[in-house]
Amino acid sequence: MPFIAPWTGENARQPTITTRLGRIGYGIGYADEYGIADRMRGALWVRMPVKPGAGGPLLGRIHALRQRQAMYHMLCQGCGQSTVGCRRDQRHLFLMASATGQPIAEGDKTVTPPSCAGCAVEAVQEGPPSRRRHVAVLVEHALVWGVAGIVYSPDTLAPVPRDNGNEFALVEYNDPRLPWTLAYREVVSLHGCTAVDLEDLIEQATA
Ligand SMILES: [Zn+2]
Repeated sequence: MPFIAPWTGENARQPTITTRLGRIGYGIGYADEYGIADRMRGALWVRMPVKPGAGGPLLGRIHALRQRQAMYHMLCQGCGQSTVGCRRDQRHLFLMASATGQPIAEGDKTVTPPSCAGCAVEAVQEGPPSRRRHVAVLVEHALVWGVAGIVYSPDTLAPVPRDNGNEFALVEYNDPRLPWTLAYREVVSLHGCTAVDLEDLIEQATA
């Protein structure tokens, strides 16, 4: 059961979105907002109870707050253990689902937290290879970039429709849309990237 997956017992009715005057001007907020739990770096976050193990696991989905925690502390998306200092070269391994198999490029942005070597190998070996391909990359720096979420219209307070078919819009922390965005994922940009061959990954881990 992946660390970042939600459980059925972690559902909650979402509070009503209102307009709120924050430190950097108007944006969205909750009527009953309590600062530290609802906001991170100025972004309003979706509310999700944190009760891992409650009910049944929802595989293939992501718990917004554990995803954020994993990014913030560089925890493995599979087992939740820290990936800091796991490698002698201090780099982090990122394993991502990829429709095209195209390697990760310098500065690419991702919502996928890092993986430890063991969980990465497990994911590659257990994933159905034909439907879901992976790319792996070793990264020197994963930098705070922004959030993935739903942008609300300041005029109608309704979600702004997205025309590219993506579930969430990527919004940088200095983007003027940030105060109007309900965050669902932390986004980092990847730097000092070296692509890792999946066969090599498995070989190294089992050697
Ligand atoms: Zn792990």
